[in-house]
Amino acid sequence: MATIIVQRPKLAWHERWFLSTFAKGLKITLGHALKTFLEITGRKEKVTMEYPEQKWDEHLPEYYRGAPALVTDDLGRERCVSCQLCEFICPPKAIRIIPSEIPSNDPWAKVEKRPKEFDIDMTRCIYCGMCEEVCPEQAIFLRKDYAITGESRAELVHDKKRLYEIGGVRVGLVNKWNELK
Ligand code: SF4
Ligand code: SF4
Repeated sequence: MATIIVQRPKLAWHERWFLSTFAKGLKITLGHALKTFLEITGRKEKVTMEYPEQKWDEHLPEYYRGAPALVTDDLGRERCVSCQLCEFICPPKAIRIIPSEIPSNDPWAKVEKRPKEFDIDMTRCIYCGMCEEVCPEQAIFLRKDYAITGESRAELVHDKKRLYEIGGVRVGLVNKWNELK
């Protein structure tokens, strides 16, 4: 078996005492301390946001993708027709829908279905936005939310009630409410 002898480099006295390494580390620490001092005294723009006193809300870009939520129209009607396309397309299978039939005596019986249950598991959601893209009724949108918290996994499964609470109202034409279509 071949033996390889590894030559140890000869260290100068200041390297043996780690003086140069210590000086490099100290330089970085002092640099950060100076930067923080300038930020605190207002002489330099802050890069650290002091959450929750300060929030990102006004600074979020247009394309920001946050928590998905269901929306109603301006008359409080559910836009979702329970077609389950979003459930089908969702890559991590975070959406679970149980559809229900709209009774034939309902004025909007032609819409046929609405969700009986609609859950989105936020521990699975990857905020990809595919549910929003695929929805034919503009019933699900990714909101500009980033503070999604809960004390248990169960709390992070947003049910239909919660999804409508965070989604709110969206105004705009949806053909299913058009009596002539
Ligand atoms: S954003 Fe993506 S991962 Fe989250 S629920 Fe919609 S399709 Fe699923
Ligand atoms: S949210 Fe949209 S895609 Fe999902 S079931 Fe409802 S109508 Fe279909």
